[in-house]
Amino acid sequence: NSVKLQEAFQKALEDNGLSAAVKLIQTGCHGFCENGPIVTIYPENTFYVHVKAGDAKDIVEQHIMKGEVVESLLYMDPVTETRVETNDEVPFYKKQVRRVLARCGLVDPENINEYIAMDGYQGLAKALTMEPQAVIDEVVASGLRGRGGAGFPTGKKWQFCRNAPGDKKYIICNADEGDPGAFMDRSVLEGDPHSVLEGMCIGGYAIGADEAYIYCRAEYPLAIHRLEVAIKQAEEIGLLGNNILGSGFNFKIHIKKGAGAFVCGEETALIASIEGRRGTPSPRPPFPANSGLWGKPTNNNNVETWANVASIIRNGASWFNSIGTKTSPGTKVFALTGKINNTGLAEVPMGITMREIIFEIGGGIPHGKAFKAVQIGGPSGGCLPEAMLDTPVDFDSLSGIGAMMGSGGLVVMDEATCMVDVAKFFVTFTQAESCGKCAPCREGTKRMLEILVRITKGQGTRRDFDLLQDLANNIKLSALCGLGQTAPNPVLSTIHYFGDEYKAHIENKE
Ligand code: SF4
Repeated sequence: NSVKLQEAFQKALEDNGLSAAVKLIQTGCHGFCENGPIVTIYPENTFYVHVKAGDAKDIVEQHIMKGEVVESLLYMDPVTETRVETNDEVPFYKKQVRRVLARCGLVDPENINEYIAMDGYQGLAKALTMEPQAVIDEVVASGLRGRGGAGFPTGKKWQFCRNAPGDKKYIICNADEGDPGAFMDRSVLEGDPHSVLEGMCIGGYAIGADEAYIYCRAEYPLAIHRLEVAIKQAEEIGLLGNNILGSGFNFKIHIKKGAGAFVCGEETALIASIEGRRGTPSPRPPFPANSGLWGKPTNNNNVETWANVASIIRNGASWFNSIGTKTSPGTKVFALTGKINNTGLAEVPMGITMREIIFEIGGGIPHGKAFKAVQIGGPSGGCLPEAMLDTPVDFDSLSGIGAMMGSGGLVVMDEATCMVDVAKFFVTFTQAESCGKCAPCREGTKRMLEILVRITKGQGTRRDFDLLQDLANNIKLSALCGLGQTAPNPVLSTIHYFGDEYKAHIENKE
């Protein structure tokens, strides 16, 4: 749709002799997916939604030539039932704090000059004037925690790798986003690839690595294309490659396309896959910080973590942790999907409540239905009921109620959703993605799925219900990697918060 729309604008501008006077820019995602394609006219900042190719002529002839806003294409606020002209007035954006997504939807991701014009590569330039240890100290002081799921302190992780003996070290960017309903990383890579490259380069300098890999799933061709363009452009002007900005620091970034196995998001499996081996996890220790890619010390962070780094160095640790909570500073990007009015990407300060995200930013539940649950953290996460919606969204508060931040997938369910079906859906996913290396996950997820199928078909027994809980608790404790260890979470959380639904399936049958 967007390509057709761009062509239609090109034609309308040409037809009216405006090709030279008006610059047409294709950007990355604005985040407001439910209302796309979106067109913004500058300098007025007029925000048009649901724009079709057939609307291009009207926008050019009415807005650009006569200065009259095309009312019918403005966003209609569903509460006030008035049309609003700029995105600042759209409720979806009002509570957001867009730091990682600051340039997404604004800059042309295939033009490095636009990135540079918005403070791009200033963090790298500053880092190169600092001692590598001082760069790590700044990241430690910021309190940045890994945005890929576990929330491990980023600076501490960098320090492990810096301290590891060895002349050759590697940096990895995990862009193997695989959670159902998650598209945060793809949008950052498509909308602002240089922010990730700059963060990786700063990390390489701090740790003492001169080579890096971005492991990106092959199903993201646009993200890969934009990364390729961004790497080439940065190399051409000395911001990547040899002797960066005359500092003597060399840093080369490669792209490795992943074949889409969910388990390759686990770092030891990801490393095996980059090396050309089968992508299966390995027991730790050794940890990648000591022995990672080709046996060398390796530091792996995900896309959103890398995208936070440059602004921390540029603006300082205290700027970064001026928002968020004490133990989870900064912002988090969430992908809002499921039964929610405003499907899309939202970046919020840590500590905001789930209720604010779902009802104020997300616009609540469609068709006047009641909220029932939200699945946070993807297939590894938990399902939370209405009573938990006022819990602050931060790493520690979420794990305290049996959920997890995960990478930021947020699936909303309404009153018509069967929670046993939801558990079955996620276990079907993890079972299919189990690599088969260890028995608790390979066999255990299969048995859990069989029981869930029996229960949803009305063939389950009380013994099945007890066995399901035993299995889930045992898999959690005994599986080799995070995929298996967290696969029971949707089952355990739905049993904990919606146990009556399991009993209803069983008792109705009995
Ligand atoms: Fe493979 Fe599952 Fe074992 Fe992980 S837990 S190693 S995905 S079988």
